Amino acid sequence: MMTDFVIAGAGHNSLITACYLTKAGFSCTIIDARHIPGGGCATEEVLGQGYKIDTCSTGHTLILQNPIISQDELGLVKEFGLSYLHPDPVAHVALPDGEQITMTLDPQETAMEFSRYSQKDAESYLTLLKEFDELKPMLGQARSQPLGMGPSLKQLLEGHKRGAIWQRRQAMSARDVIMREFESEHVRAFMGWMAFQTAVPIDQAGTGFLPYQITAPRQARSWSIPKGGSGKLTDGLVSYLTSRGARFELSKKIEKLIFDGRKCVGVACSNGKEYKAKQGVVSTIHVKHLIDMAPNDFWDENFRFCVDTYNVGVPFFASYLATTTAPIFETPRGPKSAVSAGYAGWLSDLVQSGRDIYDGKLSSDISWLLVATPTLVDPDRAPNGNHTVKFLTHTIYDLPGSGANGWSSFKEEFTDRLIKKIQKFCPTFTDDVILNKLIKSPVDIEAWNPHMINGAPHGGDRSITFSGEQRPVPGWAQHRMPIEGLWQTGGTTHPGGSITGYPGRNAAKVIFSDLGIDPSKHMF
Ligand SMILES: Cc1cc2nc3c(=O)[nH]c(=O)nc-3n(C[C@H](O)[C@H](O)[C@H](O)COP(=O)(O)OP(=O)(O)OC[C@H]3O[C@@H](n4cnc5c(N)ncnc54)[C@H](O)[C@@H]3O)c2cc1C
Repeated sequence: MMTDFVIAGAGHNSLITACYLTKAGFSCTIIDARHIPGGGCATEEVLGQGYKIDTCSTGHTLILQNPIISQDELGLVKEFGLSYLHPDPVAHVALPDGEQITMTLDPQETAMEFSRYSQKDAESYLTLLKEFDELKPMLGQARSQPLGMGPSLKQLLEGHKRGAIWQRRQAMSARDVIMREFESEHVRAFMGWMAFQTAVPIDQAGTGFLPYQITAPRQARSWSIPKGGSGKLTDGLVSYLTSRGARFELSKKIEKLIFDGRKCVGVACSNGKEYKAKQGVVSTIHVKHLIDMAPNDFWDENFRFCVDTYNVGVPFFASYLATTTAPIFETPRGPKSAVSAGYAGWLSDLVQSGRDIYDGKLSSDISWLLVATPTLVDPDRAPNGNHTVKFLTHTIYDLPGSGANGWSSFKEEFTDRLIKKIQKFCPTFTDDVILNKLIKSPVDIEAWNPHMINGAPHGGDRSITFSGEQRPVPGWAQHRMPIEGLWQTGGTTHPGGSITGYPGRNAAKVIFSDLGIDPSKHMF
């Protein structure tokens, strides 16, 4: 059956693009390799009935700033029942010497925590939050417009009275910003843990906004999570789409693009099925795969070189547990728990762990660990008062000596290391509270989702080399691909991965303008 658009891949971004296209009256056929839509925005009962496990993302803080949610542009909240929880405490992080820092939704209270280590750092933290208020509207404006359709972040910063300060900070590394703004090693470690959330090594030039960009929105509204699980966002998008007649073709891996002359008119799947489109194809297939789906000469030398040199990013390792109790941290100030908890090494350890990953080395110790327990605020995600706990860290894809294959025999031991790290601080979180376990090494993550090459979650490294006008290829950062009838969205496009919805909404804007449709008819 002919459709207006084939949507190649059903991650949250391409679903968002499809929503706007159907809003404008276009028909869409959405194809995904997995048996369910949503990509990294999914909640699945993989550890037994009633245990609703976020198989990739849990925190949705960033998409709350997108008009999709902030203005409820698609009615996901009002019509389709999407709602968000804003856990307090925001975060709880244990440090190498046993000290622990709790961040709460009250900024003064968080500053008080910092003041246990340095009064100056407490003041610097409040200054950081205040300063972010001037950066926030510029970041928001730059992210919610496709590149070239409004002023760039560079132009906005240049026009700001303190623009030079922000331009310098942007070009610095997160590590250097933290070293300058904070003096205590404990506060530095906490801020380093925050900055490393996007999986970009924090000593990379161009990561200097992260201490502001990650911390301040969480201080404002927490590590927000959808009630019922990450997949509730996908459920809302799917309901929107099916109510407008969109068709889903799942468990179908796309292998090739189909052409009429040099125009892309559809896709062919590994089971031999073909899907044709009148207007074209919107892809969220990783550019490193997409390039092999068309004849070599359809891409020029520039494009091929830049895809070849595109860095897929830092791999994730995740372990999912069903447990009878949540990790409760013992502290001199009483027991503490948080949906977003974890462990941070000293800032120098965090920096070294990023360097190790770039050098292909397995760090001797775990320096960055996120322990997510959404059932602390959303008890219906597990039966009988039990919990779902996710351990997440950064690592390498090819293990020294055994390569990627080595993970199958090593992943259990690696998970034990992560759990032991936390058991030191959470004495009641013993082995016998763990009822069931699923481990996803980088190899498993890649096998679940071909968009996450090497198990790297964000569609590519987000350091300055692969950001903005460079993402995915200079000259092709506006969702158009060098092939007529082919548009690109998802984590490989500006502003990159995570659950932000920006690549999806921005791609819709570009497609509308390419088709001569005024985007403002369908979005704010
Ligand atoms: C363990 C883990 C934890 C994470 N935690 C968070 C978090 O808490 N917060 C956060 O913001 N982000 C988190 N992320 C990252 C987040 O999940 C991704 O950045 C996000 O899902 C990217 O969305 P997307 O729409 O660009 O693409 P994806 O979600 O990657 O979806 C792409 C889709 O395309 C499909 N596809 C690709 N190639 C083909 C093909 N050839 N044929 C058919 N289908 C194809 C895939 O099957 C997939 O469904 C996490 C990731 C992982 C792995």
